Amino acid sequence: GPADSLVLRAMESDTIVAVVTPPGEGGVGIVRASGPLSSTLAERLFAGIRSSWPSHQLRHGQIVDPVSGSVVDQALGCLMRAPRSYTGEDIFEIHCHGSPLALERVVQLCLREGCRAARPGEFTLRAFLNGRLDLSQAEAVVDVVRARTNTGLDLAVRQLSGWLSERVEPVRQDLIGVLAHMEAMVDFVEDDIPPQADAATEARLQKDLRAIETLLEGAEQGIILREGATLAIVGSPNVGKSSIMNALLGLDRSIVTPVPGTTRDTVEETLQVRGVPFRTIDTAGITETSDAVEQIGVNRSRQTLHGADVVLLVLDRSRSFSQQDELAVQAIEASRENNGHNQRLIVTLNKADLPSRIDASGAIERTQPLAVVQSSAVQLAGIEELRGALEEAALGNARPEFVVGNVRHQDALRRSAAALRDALRGLSDGTPLDLVSFDVRAAAQAIGEICGANVDDEVLDRIFRDFCIGK
Ligand code: GDP
Repeated sequence: GPADSLVLRAMESDTIVAVVTPPGEGGVGIVRASGPLSSTLAERLFAGIRSSWPSHQLRHGQIVDPVSGSVVDQALGCLMRAPRSYTGEDIFEIHCHGSPLALERVVQLCLREGCRAARPGEFTLRAFLNGRLDLSQAEAVVDVVRARTNTGLDLAVRQLSGWLSERVEPVRQDLIGVLAHMEAMVDFVEDDIPPQADAATEARLQKDLRAIETLLEGAEQGIILREGATLAIVGSPNVGKSSIMNALLGLDRSIVTPVPGTTRDTVEETLQVRGVPFRTIDTAGITETSDAVEQIGVNRSRQTLHGADVVLLVLDRSRSFSQQDELAVQAIEASRENNGHNQRLIVTLNKADLPSRIDASGAIERTQPLAVVQSSAVQLAGIEELRGALEEAALGNARPEFVVGNVRHQDALRRSAAALRDALRGLSDGTPLDLVSFDVRAAAQAIGEICGANVDDEVLDRIFRDFCIGK
Protein backbone atom coordinates (compact mmCIF):
# COMPACT_ATOMS: atom_id res chain seq x y z
CA GLY A 1 0.00 0.00 0.00
CA PRO A 2 1.01 3.66 -0.10
CA ALA A 3 2.30 3.54 3.49
CA ASP A 4 5.34 1.50 2.53
CA SER A 5 5.76 3.10 -0.85
CA LEU A 6 9.37 3.72 -1.82
CA VAL A 7 8.49 7.24 -2.84
CA LEU A 8 7.12 8.20 0.54
CA ARG A 9 10.09 6.59 2.24
CA ALA A 10 12.48 8.50 0.04
CA MET A 11 10.76 11.73 1.06
CA GLU A 12 12.08 11.15 4.57
CA SER A 13 15.39 12.41 3.17
CA ASP A 14 17.44 10.45 5.64
CA THR A 15 20.92 9.29 4.68
CA ILE A 16 21.07 5.90 3.01
CA VAL A 17 24.11 3.65 2.74
CA ALA A 18 25.03 0.50 0.82
CA VAL A 19 27.93 -1.38 -0.71
CA VAL A 20 27.67 -0.51 -4.39
CA THR A 21 30.22 -2.95 -5.81
CA PRO A 22 29.32 -6.61 -6.41
CA PRO A 23 29.54 -9.06 -3.50
CA GLY A 24 32.72 -11.06 -3.05
CA GLU A 25 36.42 -10.28 -3.02
CA GLY A 26 37.75 -7.64 -5.36
CA GLY A 27 40.54 -5.15 -5.82
CA VAL A 28 38.39 -2.32 -4.59
CA GLY A 29 34.99 -2.18 -2.93
CA ILE A 30 32.87 0.93 -2.69
CA VAL A 31 30.46 2.04 0.03
CA ARG A 32 28.17 4.91 -0.90
CA ALA A 33 26.14 7.12 1.40
CA SER A 34 23.62 9.65 0.11
CA GLY A 35 21.84 12.29 2.14
CA PRO A 36 22.43 15.12 4.59
CA LEU A 37 24.81 13.15 6.86
CA SER A 38 27.37 12.65 4.09
CA SER A 39 29.78 15.44 5.00
CA THR A 40 29.58 14.57 8.72
CA LEU A 41 30.46 10.98 7.81
CA ALA A 42 33.52 12.16 5.89
CA GLU A 43 34.75 14.13 8.88
CA ARG A 44 33.99 11.48 11.49
CA LEU A 45 35.26 8.40 9.65
CA PHE A 46 38.42 10.06 8.28
CA ALA A 47 39.23 11.79 11.55
CA GLY A 48 42.90 12.03 10.58
CA ILE A 49 42.02 14.51 7.83
CA ARG A 50 41.38 17.77 9.59
CA SER A 51 40.97 20.22 6.74
CA SER A 52 37.50 20.58 5.26
CA TRP A 53 36.45 18.28 2.42
CA PRO A 54 36.47 19.76 -1.07
CA SER A 55 33.74 18.49 -3.40
CA HIS A 56 34.53 15.87 -6.06
CA GLN A 57 38.10 15.12 -4.96
CA LEU A 58 39.49 11.81 -3.84
CA ARG A 59 41.39 11.93 -0.57
CA HIS A 60 43.48 9.17 0.92
CA GLY A 61 43.39 8.33 4.62
CA GLN A 62 42.54 5.88 7.33
CA ILE A 63 39.03 4.98 8.30
CA VAL A 64 38.94 5.04 12.07
CA ASP A 65 36.04 3.86 14.20
CA PRO A 66 35.03 7.13 15.92
CA VAL A 67 33.92 5.28 19.06
CA SER A 68 36.69 2.70 19.64
CA GLY A 69 39.45 4.55 17.82
CA SER A 70 40.54 1.40 15.97
CA VAL A 71 41.67 1.52 12.37
CA VAL A 72 39.22 -0.16 10.01
CA ASP A 73 40.95 0.19 6.64
CA GLN A 74 43.08 2.39 4.43
CA ALA A 75 40.76 4.00 1.94
CA LEU A 76 39.96 6.78 -0.47
CA GLY A 77 37.07 9.06 0.34
CA CYS A 78 35.18 11.33 -2.03
CA LEU A 79 32.54 13.85 -1.05
CA MET A 80 30.23 14.98 -3.85
CA ARG A 81 28.10 17.88 -2.82
CA ALA A 82 24.51 18.40 -3.96
CA PRO A 83 23.24 18.92 -6.53
CA ARG A 84 26.19 17.71 -8.65
CA SER A 85 25.96 14.03 -7.70
CA TYR A 86 24.23 10.87 -8.90
CA THR A 87 21.29 11.33 -6.53
CA GLY A 88 21.32 15.11 -6.49
CA GLU A 89 22.01 14.93 -2.72
CA ASP A 90 25.32 15.08 -0.86
CA ILE A 91 27.08 11.78 -1.50
CA PHE A 92 30.07 10.36 0.36
CA GLU A 93 31.84 7.44 -1.28
CA ILE A 94 34.43 5.29 0.42
CA HIS A 95 36.71 3.20 -1.77
CA CYS A 96 38.10 0.47 0.49
CA HIS A 97 39.98 -2.71 -0.18
CA GLY A 98 37.59 -5.16 -1.79
CA SER A 99 37.14 -7.32 1.26
CA PRO A 100 33.56 -8.24 2.10
CA LEU A 101 34.40 -7.97 5.81
CA ALA A 102 35.98 -4.53 5.55
CA LEU A 103 33.06 -3.28 3.49
CA GLU A 104 30.57 -4.64 5.97
CA ARG A 105 32.42 -2.93 8.82
CA VAL A 106 32.31 0.40 7.04
CA VAL A 107 28.58 -0.01 6.41
CA GLN A 108 28.07 -0.85 10.09
CA LEU A 109 29.96 2.30 11.09
CA CYS A 110 27.76 4.39 8.81
CA LEU A 111 24.62 2.81 10.27
CA ARG A 112 25.84 3.60 13.77
CA GLU A 113 26.48 7.18 12.71
CA GLY A 114 22.79 7.49 11.79
CA CYS A 115 22.49 6.20 8.23
CA ARG A 116 19.87 3.73 7.11
CA ALA A 117 20.50 0.71 4.86
CA ALA A 118 19.50 1.59 1.28
CA ARG A 119 16.74 -0.41 -0.32
CA PRO A 120 17.01 -1.81 -3.83
CA GLY A 121 17.14 0.97 -6.40
CA GLU A 122 16.94 3.71 -3.79
CA PHE A 123 19.92 5.72 -5.05
CA THR A 124 18.42 5.79 -8.53
CA LEU A 125 14.95 6.52 -7.15
CA ARG A 126 16.37 9.57 -5.39
CA ALA A 127 18.13 10.60 -8.60
CA PHE A 128 14.74 10.44 -10.34
CA LEU A 129 12.85 12.28 -7.58
CA ASN A 130 15.51 15.00 -7.58
CA GLY A 131 15.27 15.41 -11.34
CA ARG A 132 18.77 14.07 -12.12
CA LEU A 133 17.30 11.38 -14.38
CA ASP A 134 13.89 11.00 -15.93
CA LEU A 135 12.08 7.72 -15.48
CA SER A 136 13.10 6.19 -18.81
CA GLN A 137 16.73 6.97 -17.98
CA ALA A 138 16.37 5.45 -14.51
CA GLU A 139 14.99 2.29 -16.09
CA ALA A 140 17.92 2.28 -18.51
CA VAL A 141 20.30 2.01 -15.55
CA VAL A 142 19.01 -1.50 -14.87
CA ASP A 143 19.19 -2.36 -18.56
CA VAL A 144 22.83 -1.24 -18.72
CA VAL A 145 23.72 -3.35 -15.70
CA ARG A 146 21.83 -6.39 -16.98
CA ALA A 147 22.68 -6.15 -20.69
CA ARG A 148 23.67 -9.55 -22.02
CA THR A 149 24.70 -8.61 -25.52
CA ASN A 150 26.47 -5.69 -27.12
CA THR A 151 23.31 -4.69 -28.95
CA GLY A 152 21.33 -4.72 -25.71
CA LEU A 153 24.01 -2.61 -24.06
CA ASP A 154 24.02 -0.12 -26.96
CA LEU A 155 20.26 0.31 -26.67
CA ALA A 156 20.40 0.75 -22.91
CA VAL A 157 23.23 3.29 -23.05
CA ARG A 158 21.36 5.24 -25.71
CA GLN A 159 18.27 5.32 -23.52
CA LEU A 160 20.34 6.30 -20.49
CA SER A 161 21.74 9.26 -22.38
CA GLY A 162 18.18 10.43 -23.02
CA TRP A 163 17.50 9.12 -26.53
CA LEU A 164 13.90 8.19 -25.80
CA SER A 165 13.21 11.28 -23.71
CA GLU A 166 14.44 13.50 -26.54
CA ARG A 167 11.87 11.96 -28.87
CA VAL A 168 8.99 11.78 -26.45
CA GLU A 169 9.19 15.16 -24.71
CA PRO A 170 8.69 17.33 -27.82
CA VAL A 171 5.57 15.35 -28.69
CA ARG A 172 4.20 15.81 -25.19
CA GLN A 173 5.00 19.53 -25.22
CA ASP A 174 3.27 19.89 -28.57
CA LEU A 175 0.18 18.07 -27.32
CA ILE A 176 0.06 20.36 -24.30
CA GLY A 177 0.29 23.32 -26.69
CA VAL A 178 -2.57 21.99 -28.81
CA LEU A 179 -4.59 21.39 -25.67
CA ALA A 180 -4.08 24.98 -24.47
CA HIS A 181 -5.10 26.25 -27.90
CA MET A 182 -8.25 24.11 -27.92
CA GLU A 183 -9.23 25.16 -24.42
CA ALA A 184 -8.77 28.81 -25.32
CA MET A 185 -11.06 28.34 -28.31
CA VAL A 186 -13.68 26.66 -26.17
CA ASP A 187 -13.50 29.42 -23.54
CA PHE A 188 -13.71 32.35 -25.92
CA VAL A 189 -16.56 31.13 -28.07
CA GLU A 190 -18.80 34.10 -28.77
CA ASP A 191 -21.90 32.88 -30.54
CA ASP A 192 -23.77 29.69 -30.00
CA ILE A 193 -21.76 28.14 -32.80
CA PRO A 194 -19.50 25.45 -31.38
CA PRO A 195 -15.84 26.17 -32.13
CA GLN A 196 -14.15 24.16 -34.87
CA ALA A 197 -10.55 23.09 -34.91
CA ASP A 198 -8.43 24.71 -37.58
CA ALA A 199 -6.48 22.73 -40.16
CA ALA A 200 -3.21 23.63 -38.45
CA THR A 201 -4.30 21.91 -35.24
CA GLU A 202 -5.28 18.80 -37.11
CA ALA A 203 -1.94 18.77 -38.92
CA ARG A 204 -0.09 19.05 -35.60
CA LEU A 205 -1.96 16.09 -34.17
CA GLN A 206 -1.26 14.06 -37.31
CA LYS A 207 2.43 14.84 -37.01
CA ASP A 208 2.51 13.85 -33.33
CA LEU A 209 0.72 10.60 -34.11
CA ARG A 210 3.28 9.81 -36.82
CA ALA A 211 6.13 10.47 -34.38
CA ILE A 212 4.62 7.98 -31.92
CA GLU A 213 4.01 5.40 -34.61
CA THR A 214 7.64 5.69 -35.70
CA LEU A 215 8.74 4.99 -32.13
CA LEU A 216 6.56 1.88 -32.10
CA GLU A 217 8.15 0.49 -35.24
CA GLY A 218 10.29 -2.46 -34.34
CA ALA A 219 8.55 -2.86 -30.98
CA GLU A 220 8.70 -6.64 -31.19
CA GLN A 221 12.36 -6.61 -32.13
CA GLY A 222 12.97 -4.21 -29.29
CA ILE A 223 11.61 -6.64 -26.74
CA ILE A 224 13.70 -9.45 -28.16
CA LEU A 225 16.87 -7.35 -28.16
CA ARG A 226 16.25 -6.25 -24.59
CA GLU A 227 14.92 -9.43 -23.05
CA GLY A 228 16.19 -12.09 -25.41
CA ALA A 229 14.44 -14.79 -27.40
CA THR A 230 14.02 -18.25 -25.98
CA LEU A 231 15.58 -20.99 -28.05
CA ALA A 232 14.72 -24.66 -27.71
CA ILE A 233 17.21 -27.08 -29.24
CA VAL A 234 15.33 -30.30 -29.96
CA GLY A 235 16.41 -33.66 -31.36
CA SER A 236 17.08 -37.30 -30.66
CA PRO A 237 20.01 -38.28 -28.43
CA ASN A 238 23.45 -38.06 -30.06
CA VAL A 239 22.43 -36.04 -33.10
CA GLY A 240 24.83 -33.28 -31.97
CA LYS A 241 22.68 -30.82 -29.98
CA SER A 242 25.36 -29.96 -27.42
CA SER A 243 28.03 -29.89 -30.09
CA ILE A 244 26.01 -27.36 -32.09
CA MET A 245 25.37 -25.32 -29.00
CA ASN A 246 29.11 -25.21 -28.35
CA ALA A 247 29.83 -24.32 -31.96
CA LEU A 248 27.32 -21.47 -31.76
CA LEU A 249 28.93 -20.25 -28.58
CA GLY A 250 32.29 -20.19 -30.38
CA LEU A 251 34.22 -17.02 -29.68
CA ASP A 252 31.35 -15.58 -27.67
CA ARG A 253 31.93 -18.23 -25.06
CA SER A 254 33.05 -15.70 -22.47
CA ILE A 255 29.70 -13.93 -22.80
CA VAL A 256 27.79 -16.95 -21.60
CA THR A 257 26.53 -16.20 -18.17
CA PRO A 258 24.55 -18.50 -15.97
CA VAL A 259 21.41 -16.58 -15.14
CA PRO A 260 19.29 -18.01 -12.36
CA GLY A 261 15.83 -18.62 -13.81
CA THR A 262 13.33 -16.15 -12.48
CA THR A 263 10.46 -18.50 -11.81
CA ARG A 264 12.09 -21.90 -11.64
CA ASP A 265 15.20 -23.30 -10.07
CA THR A 266 16.91 -23.76 -13.39
CA VAL A 267 19.98 -22.17 -14.83
CA GLU A 268 19.62 -20.80 -18.30
CA GLU A 269 22.47 -20.12 -20.65
CA THR A 270 22.53 -17.01 -22.74
CA LEU A 271 23.87 -17.31 -26.22
CA GLN A 272 24.74 -14.24 -28.24
CA VAL A 273 24.05 -14.60 -31.93
CA ARG A 274 24.84 -11.47 -33.96
CA GLY A 275 23.85 -9.27 -31.06
CA VAL A 276 20.62 -11.12 -30.31
CA PRO A 277 20.47 -12.73 -26.89
CA PHE A 278 19.04 -16.24 -26.95
CA ARG A 279 18.09 -17.94 -23.75
CA THR A 280 18.50 -21.63 -24.40
CA ILE A 281 16.18 -23.94 -22.63
CA ASP A 282 16.73 -27.59 -22.02
CA THR A 283 14.33 -29.88 -23.83
CA ALA A 284 16.22 -33.10 -23.37
CA GLY A 285 13.83 -35.94 -22.86
CA ILE A 286 11.18 -35.21 -25.45
CA THR A 287 12.22 -38.25 -27.42
CA GLU A 288 12.66 -40.59 -24.47
CA THR A 289 9.29 -42.14 -23.78
CA SER A 290 9.86 -45.41 -22.00
CA ASP A 291 8.19 -45.54 -18.59
CA ALA A 292 5.69 -43.54 -16.58
CA VAL A 293 8.27 -41.68 -14.53
CA GLU A 294 10.10 -40.52 -17.59
CA GLN A 295 6.81 -39.48 -19.09
CA ILE A 296 6.62 -36.74 -16.46
CA GLY A 297 9.95 -35.41 -17.66
CA VAL A 298 8.74 -35.61 -21.22
CA ASN A 299 5.66 -33.58 -20.43
CA ARG A 300 7.74 -30.94 -18.78
CA SER A 301 10.00 -30.80 -21.82
CA ARG A 302 6.99 -30.37 -24.05
CA GLN A 303 5.83 -27.45 -21.94
CA THR A 304 9.25 -25.84 -22.21
CA LEU A 305 9.11 -26.33 -25.94
CA HIS A 306 5.76 -24.56 -26.03
CA GLY A 307 7.29 -21.51 -24.40
CA ALA A 308 10.09 -21.13 -26.96
CA ASP A 309 10.20 -18.29 -29.49
CA VAL A 310 12.54 -20.18 -31.78
CA VAL A 311 12.99 -23.94 -32.16
CA LEU A 312 16.09 -25.54 -33.61
CA LEU A 313 15.49 -29.13 -34.69
CA VAL A 314 18.70 -31.09 -35.03
CA LEU A 315 18.74 -34.23 -37.18
CA ASP A 316 21.70 -36.53 -37.76
CA ARG A 317 21.92 -36.85 -41.53
CA SER A 318 24.37 -39.74 -41.37
CA ARG A 319 21.60 -42.03 -40.07
CA SER A 320 18.18 -42.83 -41.40
CA PHE A 321 15.21 -40.90 -40.02
CA SER A 322 14.25 -42.69 -36.81
CA GLN A 323 11.17 -43.17 -34.67
CA GLN A 324 12.75 -40.81 -32.15
CA ASP A 325 13.25 -38.16 -34.83
CA GLU A 326 9.59 -38.57 -35.67
CA LEU A 327 8.67 -37.99 -32.00
CA ALA A 328 10.68 -34.78 -31.99
CA VAL A 329 8.93 -33.58 -35.15
CA GLN A 330 5.54 -34.39 -33.64
CA ALA A 331 6.37 -32.50 -30.45
CA ILE A 332 7.32 -29.48 -32.55
CA GLU A 333 4.14 -29.71 -34.62
CA ALA A 334 2.03 -29.85 -31.46
CA SER A 335 3.87 -26.92 -29.96
CA ARG A 336 3.48 -24.76 -33.06
CA GLU A 337 -0.19 -25.66 -33.26
CA ASN A 338 -0.44 -24.35 -29.71
CA ASN A 339 1.40 -21.15 -30.52
CA GLY A 340 -0.77 -20.27 -33.48
CA HIS A 341 2.25 -21.02 -35.71
CA ASN A 342 4.14 -18.02 -34.37
CA GLN A 343 7.03 -20.19 -33.31
CA ARG A 344 9.85 -20.06 -35.85
CA LEU A 345 11.54 -23.34 -36.74
CA ILE A 346 15.00 -23.98 -38.13
CA VAL A 347 16.13 -27.48 -39.09
CA THR A 348 19.77 -28.39 -39.17
CA LEU A 349 20.97 -31.58 -40.85
CA ASN A 350 24.05 -32.21 -38.77
CA LYS A 351 27.15 -34.37 -39.33
CA ALA A 352 27.49 -33.08 -42.88
CA ASP A 353 31.08 -34.29 -42.80
CA LEU A 354 29.78 -37.88 -42.97
CA PRO A 355 27.99 -39.53 -45.92
CA SER A 356 24.31 -38.66 -46.01
CA ARG A 357 21.80 -41.42 -45.30
CA ILE A 358 18.77 -39.56 -44.04
CA ASP A 359 15.62 -38.90 -45.97
CA ALA A 360 13.70 -36.44 -43.87
CA SER A 361 12.11 -34.45 -46.67
CA GLY A 362 8.58 -35.54 -45.73
CA ALA A 363 8.98 -34.50 -42.10
CA ILE A 364 10.66 -31.26 -43.07
CA GLU A 365 7.90 -30.39 -45.50
CA ARG A 366 5.30 -30.92 -42.80
CA THR A 367 6.95 -28.54 -40.38
CA GLN A 368 7.66 -25.76 -42.91
CA PRO A 369 10.86 -24.46 -41.37
CA LEU A 370 12.17 -20.97 -41.97
CA ALA A 371 15.48 -22.50 -43.05
CA VAL A 372 17.17 -25.86 -43.47
CA VAL A 373 20.89 -25.73 -42.81
CA GLN A 374 23.52 -28.42 -43.42
CA SER A 375 26.00 -28.33 -40.56
CA SER A 376 28.99 -30.09 -39.17
CA ALA A 377 29.51 -29.28 -35.53
CA VAL A 378 32.91 -31.00 -35.52
CA GLN A 379 34.23 -29.20 -38.60
CA LEU A 380 32.39 -25.99 -37.72
CA ALA A 381 30.75 -25.93 -41.15
CA GLY A 382 27.40 -24.24 -41.70
CA ILE A 383 27.58 -22.50 -38.34
CA GLU A 384 27.54 -18.98 -39.81
CA GLU A 385 24.54 -19.91 -41.91
CA LEU A 386 22.88 -21.21 -38.77
CA ARG A 387 23.61 -17.95 -36.97
CA GLY A 388 22.04 -16.02 -39.82
CA ALA A 389 18.95 -18.21 -39.71
CA LEU A 390 18.67 -17.76 -35.93
CA GLU A 391 18.97 -13.99 -36.24
CA GLU A 392 16.26 -13.93 -38.90
CA ALA A 393 14.03 -16.23 -36.84
CA ALA A 394 14.25 -13.86 -33.87
CA LEU A 395 14.09 -10.48 -35.56
CA GLY A 396 12.62 -11.05 -39.01
CA ASN A 397 14.30 -9.36 -41.94
CA ALA A 398 14.20 -5.81 -40.67
CA ARG A 399 16.75 -4.56 -38.22
CA PRO A 400 15.67 -1.07 -37.16
CA GLU A 401 18.42 1.11 -35.76
CA PHE A 402 16.43 2.46 -32.85
CA VAL A 403 13.87 0.41 -31.03
CA VAL A 404 11.80 0.85 -27.90
CA GLY A 405 12.29 -2.41 -26.05
CA ASN A 406 10.50 -1.71 -22.79
CA VAL A 407 6.93 -2.98 -22.46
CA ARG A 408 5.89 -0.11 -20.18
CA HIS A 409 7.08 2.43 -22.73
CA GLN A 410 5.41 0.58 -25.57
CA ASP A 411 2.15 0.46 -23.65
CA ALA A 412 2.26 4.20 -22.96
CA LEU A 413 2.99 4.90 -26.64
CA ARG A 414 0.13 2.68 -27.78
CA ARG A 415 -2.36 4.34 -25.42
CA SER A 416 -1.18 7.75 -26.52
CA ALA A 417 -1.54 6.83 -30.20
CA ALA A 418 -5.02 5.41 -29.62
CA ALA A 419 -6.16 8.59 -27.87
CA LEU A 420 -4.72 10.70 -30.71
CA ARG A 421 -6.58 8.61 -33.29
CA ASP A 422 -9.79 9.19 -31.31
CA ALA A 423 -9.05 12.92 -31.26
CA LEU A 424 -8.43 13.02 -35.02
CA ARG A 425 -11.59 11.04 -35.70
CA GLY A 426 -13.49 13.49 -33.48
CA LEU A 427 -12.10 16.44 -35.43
CA SER A 428 -13.17 14.99 -38.77
CA ASP A 429 -16.61 14.03 -37.39
CA GLY A 430 -17.23 17.53 -36.10
CA THR A 431 -17.29 16.41 -32.46
CA PRO A 432 -17.37 19.47 -30.13
CA LEU A 433 -13.86 20.69 -29.34
CA ASP A 434 -14.23 20.37 -25.60
CA LEU A 435 -14.83 16.65 -26.06
CA VAL A 436 -11.93 16.26 -28.49
CA SER A 437 -9.69 17.98 -25.98
CA PHE A 438 -10.29 15.09 -23.54
CA ASP A 439 -8.62 12.73 -25.99
CA VAL A 440 -5.71 15.10 -26.54
CA ARG A 441 -5.26 15.36 -22.79
CA ALA A 442 -5.29 11.56 -22.47
CA ALA A 443 -2.68 11.32 -25.23
CA ALA A 444 -0.42 13.82 -23.48
CA GLN A 445 -0.79 12.04 -20.17
CA ALA A 446 -0.02 8.61 -21.58
CA ILE A 447 3.13 9.71 -23.36
CA GLY A 448 4.19 11.66 -20.29
CA GLU A 449 4.35 8.47 -18.25
CA ILE A 450 7.45 7.39 -20.16
CA CYS A 451 9.61 10.07 -18.59
CA GLY A 452 7.76 9.85 -15.29
CA ALA A 453 5.17 12.65 -15.42
CA ASN A 454 2.06 11.69 -13.44
CA VAL A 455 3.01 8.08 -12.74
CA ASP A 456 1.73 6.90 -9.40
CA ASP A 457 3.72 5.42 -6.54
CA GLU A 458 2.66 1.92 -7.38
CA VAL A 459 4.29 2.13 -10.80
CA LEU A 460 7.46 3.60 -9.32
CA ASP A 461 7.59 0.90 -6.66
CA ARG A 462 7.30 -1.78 -9.30
CA ILE A 463 10.08 -0.25 -11.41
CA PHE A 464 12.56 0.32 -8.60
CA ARG A 465 11.98 -3.04 -6.92
CA ASP A 466 13.63 -4.51 -10.01
CA PHE A 467 16.92 -2.90 -9.09
CA CYS A 468 19.61 -4.41 -6.95
CA ILE A 469 20.71 -2.92 -3.65
CA GLY A 470 23.36 -0.28 -4.21
CA LYS A 471 21.93 0.96 -7.50
P1 GDP B 1 23.46 -34.60 -28.29
O1 GDP B 1 23.18 -35.83 -27.49
O2 GDP B 1 22.42 -34.39 -29.32
O3 GDP B 1 23.72 -33.39 -27.45
O4 GDP B 1 24.80 -34.91 -29.13
P2 GDP B 1 26.31 -34.52 -28.83
O5 GDP B 1 26.55 -33.09 -29.16
O6 GDP B 1 26.67 -34.98 -27.48
O7 GDP B 1 27.05 -35.39 -29.94
C1 GDP B 1 26.95 -36.79 -29.98
C2 GDP B 1 28.14 -37.36 -30.73
O8 GDP B 1 28.11 -36.95 -32.10
C3 GDP B 1 29.46 -36.90 -30.18
O9 GDP B 1 30.37 -37.97 -30.23
C4 GDP B 1 29.89 -35.80 -31.13
O10 GDP B 1 31.28 -35.66 -31.21
C5 GDP B 1 29.31 -36.30 -32.43
N1 GDP B 1 29.02 -35.20 -33.35
C6 GDP B 1 28.32 -34.08 -33.08
N2 GDP B 1 28.25 -33.31 -34.21
C7 GDP B 1 28.93 -33.97 -35.18
C8 GDP B 1 29.22 -33.66 -36.56
O11 GDP B 1 28.82 -32.63 -37.12
N3 GDP B 1 29.94 -34.58 -37.25
C9 GDP B 1 30.39 -35.75 -36.66
N4 GDP B 1 31.08 -36.57 -37.41
N5 GDP B 1 30.14 -36.04 -35.38
C10 GDP B 1 29.41 -35.16 -34.64
